Formats: sequence, structure tokens, C-alpha cells
Amino acid sequence: MSEEIILELVDLKKHYPVLGGVLRREVNTVKALDGISLAIQKGECLGLVGESGCGKTTTGKAIVRLHPPSSGHIFFHPKGQENPVDIAALSPRQLKGKNLRHKLQMVFQDPTTSMNPRMLVKNIVAEPIQEQEKLSPKELEARVVELLTLVGLNRDHLFRYPHEFSGGQRQRIAVARAIATHPEVLVLDEPTSALDVSVQAQILNLLHRLRKKLNLTYLFVTHHLLVVKYISDRIAVMYLGKVVELADTETLFEQTLHPYTWALLSGIPSTEIDAPKARILLEGDVPSPLDPPAGCRFHTRCPFALDLCSEAEPPLLATGENHQVACHRSHETRSLFHSYTKEMPPAAR
Ligand code: SF4
Repeated sequence: MSEEIILELVDLKKHYPVLGGVLRREVNTVKALDGISLAIQKGECLGLVGESGCGKTTTGKAIVRLHPPSSGHIFFHPKGQENPVDIAALSPRQLKGKNLRHKLQMVFQDPTTSMNPRMLVKNIVAEPIQEQEKLSPKELEARVVELLTLVGLNRDHLFRYPHEFSGGQRQRIAVARAIATHPEVLVLDEPTSALDVSVQAQILNLLHRLRKKLNLTYLFVTHHLLVVKYISDRIAVMYLGKVVELADTETLFEQTLHPYTWALLSGIPSTEIDAPKARILLEGDVPSPLDPPAGCRFHTRCPFALDLCSEAEPPLLATGENHQVACHRSHETRSLFHSYTKEMPPAAR
């Protein structure tokens, strides 16, 4: 992994209008993504975790421009180009004109719904290549076979339809299609969530191998903490449209500073039967992104909230090398976690 930055999100927002009334006027706004700033290094796998509705998938879709951002910047540094391009400022036509769309690809959670069931595998994988390159039918077929081989399939699979494959094989086809255009960045949106556990491991290993072989950069979106721990170099934790903690994987798991991250991690089942679990049990639901709480968005569920937490929003600040956290009490949360655990009744640990 290099220190070179390939993608930089600056104060990125995605707000969806809520229409109402007879005239279908905008009556409210869903703040799915509300000002996140992140830098992704070339060749790394950055994990993005959080509960449903926290904005992690919206971030991925904004990056590949499936959902254009409402404001902010996405600076992309493509290979061989001196200056970055703000892809948030480009129209779909400009994006295509600058030949950038194929460099940012996405793999979706459910390969069944992301593929045309009436198309042969050969055509599914060939389609993005044909948009980008002029190849003879023979060359095209050779390229498709090469891609299928890269993902663990072979020539025998060319003339089959998606329904003739298992879930894991379909996800391999989706990966083959995503890498067909020589992308530099892959957004992987819960790529293993719909698969059996044994198949999940195979797909994770495949993705890990392809990243090294093709020098790819990943944004790995998931709610599964052990999956993200296995594959990511760094992890960003999101809550209600904001990044609340960002650190390299080991630091995030060993030196957790944000109460929300601690609550998520403490929910991972432990194999150590005798070890007491230091758990924070979150109460209540995630507040609505239509009307997020003022101050720290987590204050309505945080066991350590002070008056200040409902008044002022904590900025995401560096607390050490490769570690940033947005919490007014980050200097003391480690001891707070410790005493909270001791105060809990044994049955709740
Ligand atoms: Fe909890 Fe306050 Fe920190 Fe938010 S800022 S996580 S409410 S202690």
C-alpha cells in the first residue's frame, strides 16, 4: 500500500428530497450523507462500517456517481494524470467524455439482481469491454475467458445464464464484469452478505488476491465487523451520515475510542467462554435521518453523554498516528468503557 492518495472526499453530502402535498413539493430532506471527509490511499482496502441507514452505501454510490452528490467534492487521482479531477462536479456526459467512469466500478450485494437474467455470461462480461474497446469477436472472447479464469471460472461457463450458477459463482461473474474495464477503484457493497459462510471466505480470498494482482484500491462497505477486520487495512465507522471514527484495523479493534464503535465491537460473539464480555448495550433505535439530533448525533443513545454533547457537534480530530475520532470525551473513553463494564450486572456482561 502506498501513501499516495487516489480518492479524496471533502465535505461530501447527499440529501434526498421528500416530496409531499398535491403539488409534490419538497417538504423535508433525508440527510443520508451529511458532510464526510475521507482520503483513500492507492492500493489500500478501506472498510466502511455502520448500522443500516448510516450512509455507507450512499457513500459508495456517490463515488461511482450512481447517485450524484448534493454538495462537496470527490477528488480522483487517476493513473498517469498530474492533477486530480473533481468527479462530483462532472455531469454523466463529462464523466464518460473524460473516460473516467470505467476507472471506478462497483460490485453489489446481490449478483442476481445486478445481472440481466436473459444474457449469457459471455455477454454480461463482454458488455463493458465493448463500450470501451474495439475488439474482434475472437479477441473479445479471449478477453472474457481471461477474466473468468482470473475469478476462478473457465471457458465452459461462457454460454450459460446467471440462474445456472450458485450464489458464489454469480458473485465471481459480477467481479469479472467489474474488473473488465481495468478499473483503479472498486466499491464493494456488502459483496459477501448474501452468501453462505464457506463461500464468503472464498470470495474474500478472491478479492484479496485480485487487489494485489491488479493493483486495485477498494472501498469495502459492510455491516459485518469480522469480514471488514479480515480484509481491510483501515476502517471508517459511520453513524447517521457522519464518520465517527477512522483508524487502521488493528488500532480500531485494540484502541477503540468512540462509544459507538465500542458498542458495535462489543456485539461480536466471543469464543472465549470464561472471559467476561465488556459490552455496551445500545438502547433505542437510530434516530431518523430526516431530523438528526443536534450536537453529537449519537448523544441520544450514548451512555457517556454530557450536556455539551447535545449542544456542540464534535469534529473528527486526530488522536494519534492513523487514528481520528469525533467525540468530546475521546481523552477519557478508555477508562469510561472500563468502569462501565465493571458497573454492569454480571448477567449483562
Ligand atoms: Fe457520547 Fe458525547 Fe462522545 Fe457523542 S460526544 S459519543 S454523546 S460522549
